[in-house]
Amino acid sequence: MTVTERPSAIGQALLAIGDQWTLLILQRAFLLHVRRFADWRDQLGVSESVLANRIKELVAGDLLRPAPYREQGRTRTEYLLTERAIELWPLLVEIWSWERRWAPRRRGLPELTHDVCGNRTDVELGCAGCARAPVTARDTETVRDAATFAQVTVPRHHRRTVRSDGEHDPLSYFPETFELLGDRWSTVILAAAFLGIRRFADFQSELGVAPSVLSNRLRLFTELGVLAVDGPETRPRYRLTEKGLDFYGIFAFVVDWGQRWFTGPPRTDLRVTHRACGQPFRPYLRCRSCGQAISRSEVHFVLPEVIPERRLPLAGTG
Ligand SMILES: [Zn+2]
Ligand SMILES: [Zn+2]
Repeated sequence: MTVTERPSAIGQALLAIGDQWTLLILQRAFLLHVRRFADWRDQLGVSESVLANRIKELVAGDLLRPAPYREQGRTRTEYLLTERAIELWPLLVEIWSWERRWAPRRRGLPELTHDVCGNRTDVELGCAGCARAPVTARDTETVRDAATFAQVTVPRHHRRTVRSDGEHDPLSYFPETFELLGDRWSTVILAAAFLGIRRFADFQSELGVAPSVLSNRLRLFTELGVLAVDGPETRPRYRLTEKGLDFYGIFAFVVDWGQRWFTGPPRTDLRVTHRACGQPFRPYLRCRSCGQAISRSEVHFVLPEVIPERRLPLAGTG
């Protein structure tokens, strides 16, 4: 890859995590502290070749770190979350929160408990600069110098991964997020919608996306209720619905994480400002019950319908 083809920081972040299996592997590592190949395979029902491929990519992307261990006199390898991966925890919590608000499902999601106040709770997005919360898409302004934030390169995993048993697995709480985030084109198209792009031709010229891919994704987003179509049939406008606008929290954490951990070519970063304080927007999560900022070590998930309750604290390094 030449320098001019290097994707933006967000593009690199999406290459690293914008894949359904990758997100599931990380989620299991966070929630169940899975670190061994066989445990991911059994947990996810994923083929060994797909799993091996994703773990290899996660190691190459500095998201998993191989660590040898001894078992029955043999040396084996387990994989630990790196610091870069650990920093994804608020993104995973925000995904849980958004799915809880918007994705209908038959089985309950795990519940989040905030250990500081002791309540079963939900989270809301705040601005780390001024501590105000909640912050919504409408409270921030995003500026870009060039359209190159959308340089995501050609996705390596074109095929969609359909998990038919997702509905019955209480931990697979990503069904709709996967549609939006588990595919790199989807995410940049959604990002463009957050930047105010509304018309087919504008998406196309801004992103350089093939018309067939674009119309496919716009149709999917409309079906999911994330975008709504206005205007005449010949010149439709795609606007974010409340559900789509609310996805902003997830988007904000992807941008924040991506731009902190990856470096793109000059002038390809998005600059997000919190209007109320005028500072660069750094998202944080706070507890809806007590209003305090939450930290990774002070929350845990509880699986529903499991007696005795199973506590799932989020993994840390090591
Ligand atoms: Zn602020
Ligand atoms: Zn609390």
